[in-house]
Formats: sequence, C-alpha cells, structure tokens
Amino acid sequence: MSTSSIGNRPQFVDIGVNFHSTQLASITEAVLTRAKAAGVTQILATGTSLTSSRLALDLAKANPGVVFATAGIHPHGAKSHDSNALRALVELWKVAEVVAVGECGLDYNRNFSTPPLQRIAFEQQLSMAVETRKPLFLHCRDAFADFHDMLTAVVAGGIRGVVHCFTGDRAEAEAFLDMGLDIGITGWVSDLKRGGALREAIPAIPLNRLHLETDAPYLLPKNAGIRSGRNEPANLPLVAISVAELMNRDVEEIARVCSDNSRRMFGLPSA
Ligand SMILES: [Zn+2]
Repeated sequence: MSTSSIGNRPQFVDIGVNFHSTQLASITEAVLTRAKAAGVTQILATGTSLTSSRLALDLAKANPGVVFATAGIHPHGAKSHDSNALRALVELWKVAEVVAVGECGLDYNRNFSTPPLQRIAFEQQLSMAVETRKPLFLHCRDAFADFHDMLTAVVAGGIRGVVHCFTGDRAEAEAFLDMGLDIGITGWVSDLKRGGALREAIPAIPLNRLHLETDAPYLLPKNAGIRSGRNEPANLPLVAISVAELMNRDVEEIARVCSDNSRRMFGLPSA
C-alpha cells in the first residue's frame, strides 16, 4: 500500500502482541493482514521466555519494518530462569530487531514463581538492560512497592521503559510518570467493571507518555461489541477510541501521538 493511498488515516503501533500464544500462533499471517487493514502498521511481538523471545525475533525478521521483538523472562517464568537463560537473552538483546528488554517485572497476583525468584530474574534483566541501553517492556501486577523500589535506580540512570498493560490507579500512574516511565494502555480501559481506577487515571497521564497495546490474544476490548473471544492487533483502534473519550480528544490525535511515542521509545522507523 502506498503512502498516498493511506491518506490521513491514523496509523497505529501496537506495543504488545503475544504471537507465541496458542490462540495466535497458527494464524499469524491472517492476524498481520487484518492488523494492516485496520491501520495497525507496526507491532511489537512480546517475548516472555527464551522460546517466545526467539519466536518473536523470527517473526520480526520475516516481517521487516512491521514486526519488532522484545526479549525477556516474564515473572511467571522466573522459576526457570538461570544463568544460561540470561546468557542467551544477552545475545538476543544485541540483535537490531529486538527493540526492548522484557517482558520482565513482578507479578504477585498469582505467584506462578515465588516473589524472591521473581525479584532475582527481574534484577538480572534490569542490570543487563543498563548495559544494552535498550528500553524496558515492564509488567507489574500487585507488586507496586517492590517494582517501584527495584526500578528507581535503573530509571534514574537513564534507562527508559513502558509499564505495559497498566491497570493501576491515578497515584500509581503518577508515581511511574514521576520516575520517568511511560504507560501502556490496553483494552482494560474499556472495562467498566474492572477498569474504573484506570479510567480515572487516564486524564492525568500526559499524552506524550502514553502507548497503546492490545496484549492480544488477551483483553478483548469491551467496546468490540462481542462478549468473548480472542483479541488481536486489528482491535487496537478500539483502545484508542476509549482513551480519546476519556481524554476528550480526537482518536486521530491519540493515534498519531501515541504512535510517535512508541516509535521514539523503541527506535522504530517512521511508518
Ligand atoms: Zn504483562
């Protein structure tokens, strides 16, 4: 598609898609085609383990300029993290198509790995991020105090990052922003039952610090008009619509500024 045929249609960057999930793995081509048709022209494939990070990189290499990879160990998988995994991650972070360190962080909601093991895996990835100078793709659930403590020095040292799938309240958003971290918003924002605190926080977030993501196949936006099913990057404009309503701005502006933020943060080429 030529630039002229796109016209002024908004272009979106989805900073979080789990292509390795069983729901998306077998339909990657169709998902990418529908994303492009919806104006979602650049996508970060999330790496949550060594295997899924390598898969994300393969996908990025097969779709240059469209898909980019992150590489990291999700807190759920911290129990299988060891020095070999870290060495392999270090090699992945050297590759140009790997644009972020993560998904890494802390998740005390379900504790699939114990909190001490999560902190070790997170700490090691953070210290390596300082060396690679690549931005962080961060996950925090029910672990705000430890997460904030562990990141403070790293961010003060000049490492940037996005707290992806932010679902917290206004005070948490402001604490992350004050530290220097950006905020990633998913379809959680359209969830009137669970997303009340987030919806209140949105107007307090400066637009130049916001990123949009589907976190597909999870978190199907409630404004998709269907009750359940898998999410995919073609639904990202629905997240922008919810954010636009809460910020009282045009969807086009939300799309343009958030996409610019994401390209700048992750060093993506202009679409
Ligand atoms: Zn996450």
